[in-house]
Amino acid sequence: MNSDYDYIVIGGGSGGVATARRAAEYGAKVLLVESSRLGGTCVNVGCVPKKVMWNAADIHHHLEQAEGYGFAVGERQFNWSKLKQRRDAYVKNLNEVYGRLLDSSSVDVAYGFASFINDKTIEVEGLQYRAEHIVIATGGYPTIPDITGAELGISSDGFFALEERPERVAIVGSGYIAVEIACMFNALGSEVTMLLRKQQLLRPFDVSVREALTEHMLESGINIIPNTQISSARQLADGCIEIQCNNHETILHVDALLWAIGRRPATDKLNLHAAGIEVNANGTIPTDAFQNTNQSGIYAIGDITGRAQLTPVAVAAGRKLAARLFDNHADSKQDYDDIPTVVFSHPPIATIGKTEDEARELHGDAVKIYQTRFTPMYYAFAEEKPKTTMKLICLGREEKVIGCHMIGMHVDEMLQGFAVAIKMGATKQDFDRAVAIHPTSSEELVTMR
Ligand code: FAD
Ligand code: NDP
Repeated sequence: MNSDYDYIVIGGGSGGVATARRAAEYGAKVLLVESSRLGGTCVNVGCVPKKVMWNAADIHHHLEQAEGYGFAVGERQFNWSKLKQRRDAYVKNLNEVYGRLLDSSSVDVAYGFASFINDKTIEVEGLQYRAEHIVIATGGYPTIPDITGAELGISSDGFFALEERPERVAIVGSGYIAVEIACMFNALGSEVTMLLRKQQLLRPFDVSVREALTEHMLESGINIIPNTQISSARQLADGCIEIQCNNHETILHVDALLWAIGRRPATDKLNLHAAGIEVNANGTIPTDAFQNTNQSGIYAIGDITGRAQLTPVAVAAGRKLAARLFDNHADSKQDYDDIPTVVFSHPPIATIGKTEDEARELHGDAVKIYQTRFTPMYYAFAEEKPKTTMKLICLGREEKVIGCHMIGMHVDEMLQGFAVAIKMGATKQDFDRAVAIHPTSSEELVTMR
């Protein structure tokens, strides 16, 4: 392996692999450095294995409805370890696919932790590599709090390592990961308690979806304890974990404790100061609109920048950077506005743009809200009939749609197309002009009054 490159990419996750391959397609000589498994968080301990578990939980919900449709469903048994084996094999195959894709794009790969020697040189496993352009795409790791017994808990990484389903689980946190894992455990048969340090789940989300999800979760048997923080955890003789909370009242006995309190940036091994790269107080790397760090020729993309920590964002930012550096697209940059996102809870949440609170704070009375709540026809024969909620946030006389927030069956698959329309600047009238597709849930989005 020659040690001089046009482009060195540190991190072989979503952003790193995308930018490396795209740059190589433009003719750059590229080295990608990965300390662990190719594919990064998304492929190994994120989106991919999560969606497998979400699918399993979804099948549980469909089986619940099957009798209403005339099926005789016998005793149901779920084999966690069997699914885990298949999931691991699926992920391992993806690791290999990523390796082949990099190979076919002529990207060299070095395994090990990269650390900066200076602003043009890095070291990996004792070997030095040099490039005019270096991008940091090292993502992050789950945060574990600094309290007595914290090590008895697992993170989302540990969730994917579980060989068996724990019977009783406590989940600390209130964001994407906490609610997704709580809903999956619940559907697959575990008794779940969520511990929120504040009052609500998913605080940055629109009140409509946040409140509806809380209602659904409580109805499905998840225990939610707000305004509580864990002060310590200890292992008891029978193997279970005892959790003591700071109000001195809540003591839980569980088989698994899971921390889902956010993620910290993976900068510790990079030796950033050797290259003169600035970091924010929370460890993320600040960049301008073009992914430039403060140091010329050094860029950062993906989770490490702390902005919109989603796989497609890391991928898009990486590809745009490659186009700017190696395909003469001087203006190529990622647009961070109106990014659609789905929380894979049960039911799922799909959202884009401004929440009602944000819109009202920015635009006051110029904001008009359209909202609907209905029972999808699918539940016609079911005992439990979870409702779907949809909300459009519109602005000004022309009623430009600046936000869309949905929770309910299939909204995860509905949003992508509407995101295109919203990104194009669609108005409520444009929505109304689209003929509804019947009978679907999505037709409600174009028939709201
Ligand atoms: P990563 O994918 O984290 O890749 C960084 C890579 O850098 C890693 O492979 C790491 O080993 C490597 N690395 C770190 N330090 C070094 C070093 N010094 N030298 C060399 N290599 C190094 N996003 C979605 O869009 N949809 C989802 O459904 C979704 N679900 C998620 C579920 C979970 C449980 C989690 C944790 C995340 C989820 N995400 C989801 C977020 C998504 O995984 C991340 O936004 C995405 O992976 C970020 O990509 P990245 O390239 O910035 O970093
Ligand atoms: P999030 O940032 O979504 O949520 C973490 C939440 O935990 C915080 O918002 C905070 O909420 C709470 N919290 C923070 N510190 C503590 C503490 N010490 N004790 C108790 N609660 C605490 O982080 P996640 O780890 O869930 O996910 C990381 C990111 O990964 C997400 O932001 C998202 O970008 C991405 N992701 C995307 C998914 C998807 O696309 N479906 C799925 C999973 C992750 P509060 O302040 O209200 O207490």
